[in-house]
Amino acid sequence: MRSACILLLTLLLLALPVHAARAQGASRLPATAVPVHYGLTIVPDLDADTFHGSVAIDIDVRLPTDRLVLNARDLAVSSAELVDEPDAAPRTALDREAQTLTIAFARPLSIGRHRLALEYDGAIQRDQPYGLFTVSYDTPAGKRRVLATQFEPADARRLLPCWDEPAFKASFTVAVVVPAAFSAISNMKVARTDDLGATKRVTFADTPTMSSYLLALVAGELEVISADVDGVRVGMVTTAGNAEKGRFALGAATELLRFYNDYFAIDYPLPKLDLVALPGGGGFSAMENWGAIVFFERALLFDPRIASEARREEIYLTIAHEMAHQWFGNLVTMAWWDDLWLNEGFASWMQNRATDRFHPEWQVWQQAKLARDWAMRIDARSTTHPIVQPVATVNQASQAFDAITYSKGQAVISMIEAFLGEAIFRAGVRSYLRAHAYANATTGDLWAALDAESGLPVSRIARSFTEQPGVPLVTVDRRCRDGVAHIDLRQTRFAIHDPSAPPLAWTIPVELAALAGHEPPVKLLLDGAARITVGDCGPVKANAGALGYYRTEYAPKLAAELDDAIMEWAPADRLNLLADGWALVQARRAPVAAYLDMIRRLGDIPERAVWEQALGSLRAIDELERDARGRASFQAAARGLLGPLFARLGWEAQTSEPAADAALRESLLQTLGDFGDPDVIAAARSRFRAYLAGDAELPAGIREPVLRTVGRYADAESFEQLLGLARQTKDQVAKQQYYRALGGALDPLLAARALALSLTGELPGALASFQVARVAYAGEHARQAWDFAQANLDALAGKLDPMRRYRFVPELMGAFAETARAAELRRFAATRMPADARRAAERVAEDIDFKADEKSWLVPEIDRWVAAQPARR
Ligand SMILES: [Zn+2]
Repeated sequence: MRSACILLLTLLLLALPVHAARAQGASRLPATAVPVHYGLTIVPDLDADTFHGSVAIDIDVRLPTDRLVLNARDLAVSSAELVDEPDAAPRTALDREAQTLTIAFARPLSIGRHRLALEYDGAIQRDQPYGLFTVSYDTPAGKRRVLATQFEPADARRLLPCWDEPAFKASFTVAVVVPAAFSAISNMKVARTDDLGATKRVTFADTPTMSSYLLALVAGELEVISADVDGVRVGMVTTAGNAEKGRFALGAATELLRFYNDYFAIDYPLPKLDLVALPGGGGFSAMENWGAIVFFERALLFDPRIASEARREEIYLTIAHEMAHQWFGNLVTMAWWDDLWLNEGFASWMQNRATDRFHPEWQVWQQAKLARDWAMRIDARSTTHPIVQPVATVNQASQAFDAITYSKGQAVISMIEAFLGEAIFRAGVRSYLRAHAYANATTGDLWAALDAESGLPVSRIARSFTEQPGVPLVTVDRRCRDGVAHIDLRQTRFAIHDPSAPPLAWTIPVELAALAGHEPPVKLLLDGAARITVGDCGPVKANAGALGYYRTEYAPKLAAELDDAIMEWAPADRLNLLADGWALVQARRAPVAAYLDMIRRLGDIPERAVWEQALGSLRAIDELERDARGRASFQAAARGLLGPLFARLGWEAQTSEPAADAALRESLLQTLGDFGDPDVIAAARSRFRAYLAGDAELPAGIREPVLRTVGRYADAESFEQLLGLARQTKDQVAKQQYYRALGGALDPLLAARALALSLTGELPGALASFQVARVAYAGEHARQAWDFAQANLDALAGKLDPMRRYRFVPELMGAFAETARAAELRRFAATRMPADARRAAERVAEDIDFKADEKSWLVPEIDRWVAAQPARR
């Protein structure tokens, strides 16, 4: 599964908690009986938003028992029968809290195979992507709906009574009755279609043995384009009329399938792979259902007229991520949600390995380091948790989908691959997959395979990074004597806003880099402290290639030498110096001036990730400056730092410019617009006017920054113009671009109108709550947005899915930087959220406290730096 916020670090804020509930789904199912095969038929009633289900479950009873316990949620069971013992007289009882269905028999079932048949009814969610749901969308012929499913982690139990835990693998035969005009998609190919007049029954071929959360069903007025890859049919499925926008994705999926077949040395095991684009927007961008990956359109469809290079890259990475899961996750599945990172950390790493193979120009490894940086920021705080974490309840499983699981996970895998070398690492992965295919595995199984393949202490390193929380800090000191340098390395724990963080110890693969002309790199495993002697006294940098998961702090003289030489290092090391520089500022271990001076030295270099790091921290400072007197001066000084880059990139794409420049132009223009650059604002407005008048196109590469800047400084007239465009277009991606622009309006009266749009129904599902978050963050109206959200919690909650249920309010309140708001959030969590679902609230409350504190010391420091800058306009 992939939520867009992980990679882009953009705020894609989701679902909403409103009603406190008790911990649900807390008990694990007994394994006295296990499922072998499900024969499932679903008959939806789209007008009533309900469905009827029939399921025959072949079970294997392992110990004599007079009861079966399986999962079911919000299902009404009307009949239960033991097919092989018609007189067994089963009685059923649903436990709402535990989300279980217990079937009791008059006498114990014998050990061996039995068949259980159930008839039941359930609900179809409207515009909320969980369980069985529909998404509505506009077409030239009127409103249409598409039916789809979303089950991870624990919503298959809303479609059928089942053993809804990843370790209970079974095969499925799925059938669905749909209107005759619909096409239906499931994990497997269609085996037969029976004409029933106005409807038809579509039956799919049997799946291999798999976990229930990977089951999928989609139906609607769909269109498909497809390609054959070594006998596997790869299909791109869209709503009617949109198939061509899937052409780019189809090409990507085709080359990626061949790449993965080779990388894993196991051919993709199903006869087909569909990539399905649902209209609208959900709380997630894509879900890796086996053979039927479901995306929301923005994450899959590419229209070069409106989507930029950065979108194209994001689409490719998302496809690469979901396809990696077809092996890592679907073929071999974590035994339980405590090892979710095995799925998500690995897929997040693999998406880069695969994408870099075909698109080195995107520099995705560099971009991945930004995601790692974000994880390290979270991991340096008191509210962090280990990658491998105890999970007992459904809420806890849902909360496991976070930056630690995805981004720290991928960073640890990167570090281990670098330590072992690409070939040995791949051989270990292959043997792990072969050993656990069609079954389940744990983190320990992966390390054992890598230990065996390499003969190196992978487990020792890996366990120190996955079983305990936190970020190591490696301090580097250098003493020179007679042309020889003694380098002392020591590790401690790196913490931000957490002075009493308990000390921890890691086994860290450390590689020291030297500049060209100096002694070559040195590698070691750092336990505690180490001293190394090298034959010259040039600048020495830790974390060569930035592949290690740790921060580095240098003794002052060495730090100054490294900062001065920032342009001489390789791009990855340059990015590393900057990222560590900013982290040390946040930890109050280094002055901000040294960091900002490093940005100045960058000039106009063509390294996207390096600039994204700089833009990110400048934006973070700007957020702290929001109510400060010196904000305008800071923005002017920041524009000065970015001036050389803007002078090089400008507004117009150069023919055959690097892809990284195109993506960078987009971020840079957005930042300059947000920082009040008068020329950028004027140019954005004039381009928008020309577009409205039909005199000029809005090229895809600058479309979002133009709309965002026009929206930010909108008056009533331009607000109306943007809204008109939003309502007029039938293109879902373009529509979202306009609504996002509206959400960023600085004018409080327009912000109130932007908030009201979240309740009109024109923004389906999670997009409505997105809009509220946009107003809080981009529009800088945290208080207004939060007041609005509180007044309309029930209405907004009606549009949300349980996966992010307890994240919306915390993430909305994350726009605040006052301690009183942190306290308010903690009270909200204590009274409105179950105890096992407060992790996001606790993390954000701590972050609000941190920002409040940071404001008090960093803003005066920034003011001093600004005062020391040459005067600007
Ligand atoms: Zn995933």
